[in-house]
Amino acid sequence: MPMCSYPLGCENFAIKLVNMQSSRCAIHQVNTPQLQKAEEAFVSKHKLDEEARIAREKLQAERDKLAAAAAAKQLARSTKRAEIIELYVPKWSALINDVVRQVNDLRATVPTANAGKNGKNPVIPGGLENEIVLTISGTDAAYGVKAGDVCRRIAGFDVSDSGVVKFRRASNAGDRTNILIHCR
Ligand SMILES: [Zn+2]
Repeated sequence: MPMCSYPLGCENFAIKLVNMQSSRCAIHQVNTPQLQKAEEAFVSKHKLDEEARIAREKLQAERDKLAAAAAAKQLARSTKRAEIIELYVPKWSALINDVVRQVNDLRATVPTANAGKNGKNPVIPGGLENEIVLTISGTDAAYGVKAGDVCRRIAGFDVSDSGVVKFRRASNAGDRTNILIHCR
């Protein structure tokens, strides 16, 4: 027994054939030209709606794909940025630690010593007049890495103002004056 031939699909078997030409089930009978015309209009509109829905879904799928790609790219960039910061931290920390070591050494004989000039003693980097220059390479800066991102990860980071970064560390003697290291 043939199935109902309704163009939008029907799983009813054509059990109520009105005549031998009909291949429609009882629900989908079109007995008059008016019904025929109405059905054609309905089917036509339904197909257009379906096409529009498919087009919308396709567009949305493309947007979702682009958004996912952009998110993945953003995540990769942010991961890379974090990795770059991690590479700078030990290098810059070493510069700061070296100043702290030199100041501590000098304080054994010059208790007021600090970074910079200390009378006739060798000049220690990191004073107000000989700031340590901390530079982010252009390539790394392109990942949005800023000096402040690195400095905040280094012990004793005190303040960053007008391009001047200050680190403050306690001296070995636990004394007196903090060791101040100026960078820019
Ligand atoms: Zn049917």
